[in-house]
Amino acid sequence: MYLLRKPILALSRNHAVRDLISRAPVTRDVVQRFVAGETTADAVTAVRRLRSAGLQVTCDFLGEDCTNAAQADATVAGYLDLIDALVDAGLVAGAELSVKLSAVGQALPSGPDVPGGGEAYATAGARKIVEAAYGAGARVTLDMEDHRTVDSTLQILTGLRSDFPDVGVAIQAMLLRTPQDLAELTGPGSRVRLVKGAYDEPSSVAFAEPAEVDLAYVRALRVLMAGRGRPMVGSHDPRLIAIAERLASDNGRAADSWEYQMLYGIRPDEQSRLAARGHPVRIYLPYGHDWYGYFTRRLAERPANLMFFLRSFASKK
Ligand SMILES: Cc1cc2nc3c(=O)[nH]c(=O)nc-3n(C[C@H](O)[C@H](O)[C@H](O)COP(=O)(O)OP(=O)(O)OC[C@H]3O[C@@H](n4cnc5c(N)ncnc54)[C@H](O)[C@@H]3O)c2cc1C
Repeated sequence: MYLLRKPILALSRNHAVRDLISRAPVTRDVVQRFVAGETTADAVTAVRRLRSAGLQVTCDFLGEDCTNAAQADATVAGYLDLIDALVDAGLVAGAELSVKLSAVGQALPSGPDVPGGGEAYATAGARKIVEAAYGAGARVTLDMEDHRTVDSTLQILTGLRSDFPDVGVAIQAMLLRTPQDLAELTGPGSRVRLVKGAYDEPSSVAFAEPAEVDLAYVRALRVLMAGRGRPMVGSHDPRLIAIAERLASDNGRAADSWEYQMLYGIRPDEQSRLAARGHPVRIYLPYGHDWYGYFTRRLAERPANLMFFLRSFASKK
């Protein structure tokens, strides 16, 4: 395993380091590689560019681990603003939004501003986003965060799906519980984004070795491709990309019944190549000022990204 993954992921939640890195002037250039900008207008510009290149989008208004109700409300308002802007720009049809429930209050303790507790607060916030998105012709997928949030996220998903059956969810191959979770998620129209998993998890709940995670990914992909939902293959891994295509073909899937998903700025040539071959490809488009957690997970995934980041510091001195 990439040895720095764990320490970098630990730093992703350290507030002092967050402040230091977020304020460093050189950081911005590096961040731009992975984040489409800070404003709604930046996001719309990026959506337009990707769409004209034949790529679909799923937009993430960056934020996570919010600590108060006002912050959660601001995240909901940010998504509503984006939906309006996509409508105005004529770009909303086929667009998707990715929502982290911790950004809309999932972990908030009960209190005067959060009377029913964090899960109820996040459910209400997510519902506002989903209602606006579906009303405008877009869809929503719930991101998956660390393993402690999975039960709550699936619970909220079930509630949303009772009115909006194709709200999607990300499922992490690295978690040992995933085969059981998937058994409930392969029905008609069920949209599931399968990812390896980006969080630092204890070995009691997750595979630690990359090879084990890859095998678990393939097992989960088999289940999704054989099911009746819409698999969303969230990976840049060339082997998994090829296996997905083969499994789709083995299961007689139509090309538009599943899709590839990749992160903004990562393997852009491969994104274009797959789209040119007629595969639906959706780009996860993060934007907003709260990019630190997302950015450090991208550094943790790849030594080359960390080196690129550190070199940019050194070269400005
Ligand atoms: C659309 C999408 C949505 C996601 N949503 C979630 C989510 O909700 N919850 C969650 O836990 N995780 C999520 N992830 C992240 C995921 O869990 C992995 O951490 C991430 O995708 C890296 O795994 P990989 O499958 O690309 O394979 P890896 O083995 O990590 O990478 C394969 C190859 O892809 C390229 N690559 C991968 N990562 C990077 C990078 N950071 N920088 C540059 N090149 C890279 C490299 O060429 C690498 O060799 C998401 C990923 C995608 C693509």
